[in-house]
Amino acid sequence: MKYDVAIIGGGPAGYTAAERAAAGGLSTILFEKNALGGVCLNEGCVPTKTLLYSAKVYDTIKHAQKYAVKAENPTFDFPKIIARKNKVVKKLTAGIRMKMTEHGVVVVNGEAEIKGRAADGTITIACGEETYEAANLLLCTGSETVIPPIPGLAETEYWTSREALQTKELPASLVIIGGGVIGMEFASFFNSMGTEVHVVEMLDKILGPMDKELSEMLQAEYAKRGIKFYLGHKVTAVHGGEVTVEKEDESFVISGEKVLLSVGRRPVTKGFGLETLGVEPFRNGIKVNQYMQTSLPNVYACGDITAFSLLAHTAVSEAEVAVKHIQGKAGDGMSYKAIPGVVYTNPEIAGVGKTEEELQAEGIPYTVKKLPMAFSGRFVAENEQGSGVCKLILAEDETVIGAHLLGNPASELIVIAGLAIEKGMKADELRSIVFPHPTVGEIIKETLFV
Ligand SMILES: Cc1cc2nc3c(=O)[nH]c(=O)nc-3n(C[C@H](O)[C@H](O)[C@H](O)COP(=O)(O)OP(=O)(O)OC[C@H]3O[C@@H](n4cnc5c(N)ncnc54)[C@H](O)[C@@H]3O)c2cc1C
Repeated sequence: MKYDVAIIGGGPAGYTAAERAAAGGLSTILFEKNALGGVCLNEGCVPTKTLLYSAKVYDTIKHAQKYAVKAENPTFDFPKIIARKNKVVKKLTAGIRMKMTEHGVVVVNGEAEIKGRAADGTITIACGEETYEAANLLLCTGSETVIPPIPGLAETEYWTSREALQTKELPASLVIIGGGVIGMEFASFFNSMGTEVHVVEMLDKILGPMDKELSEMLQAEYAKRGIKFYLGHKVTAVHGGEVTVEKEDESFVISGEKVLLSVGRRPVTKGFGLETLGVEPFRNGIKVNQYMQTSLPNVYACGDITAFSLLAHTAVSEAEVAVKHIQGKAGDGMSYKAIPGVVYTNPEIAGVGKTEEELQAEGIPYTVKKLPMAFSGRFVAENEQGSGVCKLILAEDETVIGAHLLGNPASELIVIAGLAIEKGMKADELRSIVFPHPTVGEIIKETLFV
């Protein structure tokens, strides 16, 4: 049998593509060598957020007296926190499997290997003893942790995010190499649980390209809570729990019971016969057009493999675009104008659209409207002594082009700004929307009146 669509990789890109393709009547086969759900469900978004929620509950109870509630000597059961995380992952991955069955997707558990592409475009894929044929191929193999060539690292038992999520015991101290999104989410979790946390970052700010001002505010908040930051420091060696760092001509050692490496992720493009197709590369991933087509028209690439966004929601949208294109109804294709980025620390930080730093680099004029979160009544009611900021960025013609929020629940509120940016709304149009009162979301409307 020749399938309409074959998909390699069952993460957010792959399972979304499979579901949409099969629901649209296309015969669909999905190959997954590990667990359905990919990195996101098994060792990424979902398990981290589950752990962070336990930490948030614990933090809330620790500070219950701020809300005139008494809770003496709050404590936690760490193995049970990990067990709950595993339960959540199991439940959600089972849900994905059920969806695949419901829609009639053929799921093959095994490592797929591309064998070739015939003159008529037919793709041949091998998996185990079997070979399969498909008219279209979606490459959704995702990404893996970057392991830099730091002297001593290979001989050290370090953690990546995968091992950190599996730990059964809390380390007394932890050195995190890399203060990006993943590093900071783990820093937040372990700090809440009482671990002494050190964050080493080579750049002069945490959280990579996120809004500088808000990133610095979040860093200051975590510094107050005891996390030690080493910005602009390069790791030159790792030996056991001893991490040697260097800044200009100063060099010293930071010691931790564990070392967590989180310096980034890179697309998985090797080991599954991709070279037989000869698709054009982009950075360390694969080049695609707005319909997610690679340089071969019936071969698509979606998700982290494109090396573009490395976020689950981007992967999902790209998969939807690719399947629509196969069905001949892709419209304008993929838009990257309003991809939200969220860090699920406590408080959360979220951004969408342009940052001030990007606009300055591009020489684009803009105006900023900014208000402390305390201008929202609901925020004050629910965040005793908590601080935060809502920053909106407008183009010269008052089109909303960026939004950056620090404060809970930024991850939910950022959708409002994302909608405005994606739809090219002007400040006046967003002002005319009725927001329910009292909600923290009102801060977005309020900020536009500044
Ligand atoms: C700790 C952590 C936290 C994260 N938190 C968030 C978050 O909060 N929000 C967010 O948006 N993103 C988050 N991410 C990123 C997110 O997980 C990825 O962007 C997302 O999983 C990408 O989806 P994907 O489908 O492209 O690839 P993946 O999820 O990586 O899935 C690829 C799948 O392909 C399979 N595969 C590879 N090669 C083969 C082969 N030859 N044959 C068969 N199967 C194969 C793999 O086993 C894997 O299951 C996080 C990542 C990490 C590591």
